[in-house]
Amino acid sequence: MFRLLFWIAFIAAAVWLWRRFNRPRPAQSRQAARHDEPAPMVRCAQCGVHVPQDKALSHGQRWYCCQAHLQQDSSPGER
Ligand SMILES: [Zn+2]
Repeated sequence: MFRLLFWIAFIAAAVWLWRRFNRPRPAQSRQAARHDEPAPMVRCAQCGVHVPQDKALSHGQRWYCCQAHLQQDSSPGER
């Protein structure tokens, strides 16, 4: 009797895990439905202008306002 209960619990847990890993996460990766939270501002490492993070370009831990500044600042030969 105890073994039967154990197997039922085991199968229920397995099904729960399977469903959890198979289901795609809704609205987790996309930032479409965010109203309360404003986009965080980041500073361009080249010219110092502040741009929203979703519009900025990242290179390592640095942020840039445009592609030209990214290439200027990360050009090889510095340091
Ligand atoms: Zn810039």
